[in-house]
Amino acid sequence: KKAERVYNFSAGPSMLPLEVMEQAAEQLTNYGGCGMSVMEMSHRSSEFEEILHSAEKNLRDIMNIPDHYKVLFIQGGATLQFSMIPMNLLRNSKKADYIVTGAWAKKAAEEAKKFGDIKIVASSEESVFSYIPEVKKEEFREDADYVHITMNNTIYGTKFPYIPDTGEIPLVADFSSCILSETVDVSKFALIYAGAQKNIGPAGVVIVIIREDLIGHASADIPVYLDYKIHADNESMYNTPPTFGIYMAGEVFKNIVRLGGVPALEKINREKAKKLYDYIDQSALYSCPVVPKDRSLMNVVFVTGNTDLDKKFTKEAKAAGLHNLGGHRSIGGMRASIYNAMPMEGVDTLIEFMKKFEAENK
Ligand code: PLP
Repeated sequence: KKAERVYNFSAGPSMLPLEVMEQAAEQLTNYGGCGMSVMEMSHRSSEFEEILHSAEKNLRDIMNIPDHYKVLFIQGGATLQFSMIPMNLLRNSKKADYIVTGAWAKKAAEEAKKFGDIKIVASSEESVFSYIPEVKKEEFREDADYVHITMNNTIYGTKFPYIPDTGEIPLVADFSSCILSETVDVSKFALIYAGAQKNIGPAGVVIVIIREDLIGHASADIPVYLDYKIHADNESMYNTPPTFGIYMAGEVFKNIVRLGGVPALEKINREKAKKLYDYIDQSALYSCPVVPKDRSLMNVVFVTGNTDLDKKFTKEAKAAGLHNLGGHRSIGGMRASIYNAMPMEGVDTLIEFMKKFEAENK
């Protein structure tokens, strides 16, 4: 079975742990002997309630989420959070400050502008988002309702090497492409959100980890589904939740526990990324446009400097079983997304291919 699978370097949806999918396949038509699939089960059944509660409990354990934070399973992807965040969190000054470090951060800020006074306090757009700006506490507006950052920039291959000090201002972060990749101190953030389709499970679920004092301030006229309070009060069961996606996420969390938790994954992720960056940095053909200190552990971006050669690389890599290595359509080049489920052998195989391609295309 393993031999049939390719190494999939897609930025998302991306690879999931094989053992989790094989187990889900075994349980697909008959979950735990209950005679039906999770897909067919009432979300009000005791079986599903157990699935939801254990998913939340395991996520709380592996991320050390403090008790005064709620964990919500919502639909609409990270994109809907771009709207829900300002709709719920702009409450006093109606001001929010955004650090723009990529296309997703920009989209988040653009969406928020519909709801309040949004200031871009720093941006690295002038250098095609090849670095993360350093922003000091004094640069944020004192009365801002929140500050928003994108922790890992999927398209440009950067990640915040530091957590901005916002003082009393709630810090909100998009963790879509780095959640569970390395340990994080949740208490430094007021709200963390992440679409599932990279390190968590299938697309269709977004996880929101929110400090309780931020819940319950949305204006009464917003659509009911967009109010965090509705999701919190109903334990993510106000309406039918994405049941199968939550089940898969829960199985991924159990697997992380089995593998030794996030620190164990972080160690491997650092080794995988280091191997790839070290190879790229010494190569005469490939280069990485991102400043070393801000490089992502999850999305490794590189170019040959020749667009035709980049295309040839992506095509030949695919023929060799290394799929989806093309860079995002907005910037081209190559991108190897090496999320938690990408095994070390995938990275080793990629490096071997890169060496061969370099030798053939001097
Ligand atoms: N934020 C980041 C960092 C992303 O990488 C993506 C998608 O890749 C999104 C937001 C958008 O997520 P979704 O497609 O779940 O709305």
